[in-house]
Amino acid sequence: MGKALIIGCGGVASVAIHKCCQNSEVFEEICIASRTKSKCDALKEKLAGGRTKITTAQVDADDVDALIALIEKEKPDVVLNLALPYQDLTIMDACLATKTHYVDTANYEPEDTAKFEYKWQWAYREKFEKAGITALLGSGFDPGVTGVFSAYAMKHYFDEIHYIDILDCNAGDHGYPFATNFNPEINIREVSANGSYWEDGRFIETKPMEIKRVYDFPEVGPKDMYLLHHEELESLALNIKGVKRIRFFMTFGESYLTHLKCLEDVGMTSIEPIEFEGKQIVPLQFLKAVLPDPASLGPRTKGKTNIGCIFQGVKDGKPVRYYVYNVCDHQECYKEVGSQAVSYTTGVPAMIGAMLVMTGKWRKPGVYNVEEFDPDPFMDALNQWGLPWQESFDPQLVD
Ligand code: NDP
Repeated sequence: MGKALIIGCGGVASVAIHKCCQNSEVFEEICIASRTKSKCDALKEKLAGGRTKITTAQVDADDVDALIALIEKEKPDVVLNLALPYQDLTIMDACLATKTHYVDTANYEPEDTAKFEYKWQWAYREKFEKAGITALLGSGFDPGVTGVFSAYAMKHYFDEIHYIDILDCNAGDHGYPFATNFNPEINIREVSANGSYWEDGRFIETKPMEIKRVYDFPEVGPKDMYLLHHEELESLALNIKGVKRIRFFMTFGESYLTHLKCLEDVGMTSIEPIEFEGKQIVPLQFLKAVLPDPASLGPRTKGKTNIGCIFQGVKDGKPVRYYVYNVCDHQECYKEVGSQAVSYTTGVPAMIGAMLVMTGKWRKPGVYNVEEFDPDPFMDALNQWGLPWQESFDPQLVD
């Protein structure tokens, strides 16, 4: 079918690349390009012998000209951005200049402010429309599958959705007192920011970890979960017409929260640069350097994740409750692709998003979030490519 250029070669990219190689009918060729080329070469070597042709390249994704030169050389059908959120706009600029479709898994963030907003990327709508190319934003799990679940619920089970609760549970245990399951800098910025939820047409802000609930997750059991702001709240509030409230909860263990509090109290999670031995350093970036690399957690992590959405609304004048979720086992993921479930649950939907854009099933000029496309092919692909979903019409609700 075609060729993808994958930018970044970290935890999520590694899974997506494994999955592209499993799906060689669509991904006949991939180019893996990242800041550290040796990581791309090591992965290429690991995957050698399959039907997908793999090439590698070094690129600084902050440099638009370097990206344009790379895209012009490789001529991919789609660019799958699995670097960091800081690089979204430069990669989108390069896609515009070369008229190449674009897919990512996280919204743009300026490096010096932890702000989770689509406004910078939505500002590219007209430019992408005019260029006749598609940008698919947030094709991971959350955002990503959670938006697809919402579109699927709306299409098949509801006339109106009034309430959405997104529940992200990671019951994996890696045996370390403190580590993050994906890029520590991005993860800590997200959880130490104020929380917020959407209600009656506006965002209501909360203090970090202010709202706590306990939920009995299928196949996992009861876990403490906390309300966070999450980027899909913004797009779902816009795209699911008539929704009255959307909340996002994530589970955290006590040890994680105690360590985080301590690190915050001593200033280690700050993104404000400080002077250290004559050099400017960002405490959070230094913390990232001393924490375990998320990629190293794979072999040690046991247990399951359960991520899904609970919808409440009406169909044919009758109240409906609907819970759709995926359960993923860390060790099964490790056996299959050498990564734990947090990277797996993001890397698989990233491959699926790129596949749907590449095959033309999800393609229209402009900048779109996942819930703006027909959810059915994505839902089928989740079952086919390792993230089967389950549903319940009588779930426990979150109060
Ligand atoms: P990692 O830190 O493991 O990987 C990031 C990769 O990007 C690394 O290979 C890194 O290179 C590369 N990179 C960073 N800066 C540049 C640059 N300037 N030029 C070229 N390459 C660069 O992160 P993850 O794999 O955990 O996360 C990847 C993305 O997925 C992030 O945007 C994250 O927010 C998103 N994500 C989305 C989720 C979802 O459900 N939607 C869930 C989890 C993550 P190097 O190896 O040199 O450091």
